[in-house]
Order: sequence, then structure tokens, then C-alpha cells
Amino acid sequence: MDTVKTKVAIIGSGPSGWTAAIYTARANLRPVLFEGLQPGGQLTITTEVENYPGFPDGVQGPELMQAFKAQALRFDTVVFSEQITEADFSSRPFRLKSDSREVLADAVIISTGASARYLGLPGEEAFYNKGISACATCDGFFFRGKEVAVLGGGDSAVEEAVFLTRFCTKVHLIHRRDELRASKIMQQRAIDNEKIEIHWNRVVEGYEGDDQGRLIGVRLKDTKSGEIEDLAVEGLFMAIGHVPNTQIFKGQLDMDEAGYLITKPDSTYTNVDGVFACGDVQDRTYRQAVTAAGSGCMAAIDSERWLEAQGD
Ligand code: NAP
Repeated sequence: MDTVKTKVAIIGSGPSGWTAAIYTARANLRPVLFEGLQPGGQLTITTEVENYPGFPDGVQGPELMQAFKAQALRFDTVVFSEQITEADFSSRPFRLKSDSREVLADAVIISTGASARYLGLPGEEAFYNKGISACATCDGFFFRGKEVAVLGGGDSAVEEAVFLTRFCTKVHLIHRRDELRASKIMQQRAIDNEKIEIHWNRVVEGYEGDDQGRLIGVRLKDTKSGEIEDLAVEGLFMAIGHVPNTQIFKGQLDMDEAGYLITKPDSTYTNVDGVFACGDVQDRTYRQAVTAAGSGCMAAIDSERWLEAQGD
């Protein structure tokens, strides 16, 4: 197994990881970045990004992430398209492992982000890729001419629902309350779209499949009356938030009850000296591309100053 030594290892390749790479590379730290299972992170499974400053006409998510990567590569960033599966922060240099190499790093920046949450109902997993998805941009095309549902009431749910109206005959937006969490402008887009029907105060209780195991319906419960109804849809898109990708750090780094890494106030310092966290993995409040990029910059500056203080 190959061993790589580096001053700074960056785990994850969303806006925070690439920004940390750009800054640490420009500080001559020659960072090593591991792209992980989803290179580019969550923005690669979205369509148009309208709120990233500097793009008055909007920009496609994957295109934006390509630009981040190209900027990091322009300076001296070493990139591995691999997933870090083990981390040992008990002594320095810190040890990280992917399937094909071990990394010895003086400092580590964690930017592993968060992944889509599923409901986890009994029998649900059997419908993954057979009707249940968490990415309309990836899978919407397969539901051309069909009726589908989106679960959730946030910006993601509305964005996915609006996007799906391009392909689908009808989109049912299922939300557990009587008010959307999405921003006002997004709410209006859902309300104005004739193909979207909002089902208020409803939760998903179960699924129905055909004899090939493909989804043909979801069972809904009215949270007010307790009434049960079956909704015939061939697709269900989960848009119920995210779970931080912190499993491999359990027992080593402080986390809150939802698994988000805890950083010291006004910094990216974790409870282990020399290990920094940025982006969605430590942010349950803002979770925007631009705030992730901002905290990636903070992590780079924090790690650079910390390494300097160690005399490294
Ligand atoms: P979110 O804002 O956390 O919304 C999650 C939604 O799922 C909420 O409506 C929540 O209901 C619902 N939910 C959570 N658990 C559920 C469960 N077990 N069963 C049923 N419903 C459940 O997540 P998000 O929409 O993914 O957005 C994340 C962040 O990204 C936000 O800051 C958002 O503004 C941002 N974002 C922005 C854009 C944009 O600006 N274009 C697009 C996408 C995302 P409750 O409302 O009842 O809690």
C-alpha cells in the first residue's frame, strides 16, 4: 500500500474542500485532497445555482464545481479520486486510509459534507432505484410522462418538485406541516406551478410495489385527522434534509446529537489540535455553497497558522 506524507490532507471535494485546497495550495502547503464517493459534493446533483455571488445569470452546479476544482489544480493541489475509509487522530502525524493508500498528515481538514436523508421505513430500501430516489436531477428523466411525489417542505423539496414538472405529468409535494419551510420565492414557484399539488399535514407511512418490485404508490397519513390514503405514484423523491458524513470520526471528534462536528466558536478547530472541519459537516444552520466555501477558507487559514505555530 502506497504511503503519502503531507502537511495538510483535505477530505471531501465540495465548495469547502476545494476552497481549503485553493488557500492551502497558495500558502505553499501542497495539500492532498481526497474527492470521496461523490466528487464535487451536493452541488453536482443540483441544476441551476442562482445564489452563488458572482454569477448574475446563475450557474449550473456541476459547472461551478468544475471551476472550483480547476482553480485548486492551477495551484499545487494533489488530488486522489478515492474515499477515506479510516482516520486515526490519536497521535501525529494523523493517519488516514483509502482503499489504495495510507496518508500521514500533520494537519487534516474535514470537508466531508452531508448526504441525503431517507425515511428508513420497513421495506424502503428495496425501492431504492426502483422508484425511490433522493436526486431529481439524477433520476428525474426516468419518470418522463409519469406521476411522482416529493417529500419535504424545504428549498430542496420545492426545487426538486419544480424541476420534476419538466418531465412528469403531475408532482405531489407531501409535507408534514401546513406551512412550507422553503424561502418565499421558492414557495411562490411551487404555488404558481399548475403541475404541483401540495398535500399538507401528510406523512408517508408505507409503500406499495408491483410484482417486479417497482414502486406504484405511497400510503399517506393525515397528521390532523389520522386518516390514511393511498397515492398512486411511480416515483418518490426524498427531500427531507441531510445527515452529516461523520461515521469514520465517531469516538474521536466531538459531535452534536445529530452527528455534526463541533467546532470552536469563530473558528474551524475541532477538539483535536490539528484537525479542522468546514462546510456542511459542521454547519446545521446555513448550509449554503457560499458559506461552505467561506468556512473552507477559514479552515485553510486556521491550519496554516496552526502548522506555523508548531514550527512545521
Ligand atoms: P431543510 O431546509 O432542512 O428542509 C427539510 C424538510 O424536510 C423540512 O420541510 C422538514 O419538515 C422535512 N422533514 C425533515 N424530516 C422529515 C421527516 N422525517 N418526515 C417528513 N418530513 C421531514 O433541508 P433542505 O430543503 O435540503 O435545505 C437545506 C439547506 O439548503 C437550506 O438551508 C436551504 O435553504 C438550502 N437550499 C437552498 C436552495 C436554493 O436556495 N435554491 C436549494 C436547496 C437547498 P419541517 O419543515 O416540518 O421541519
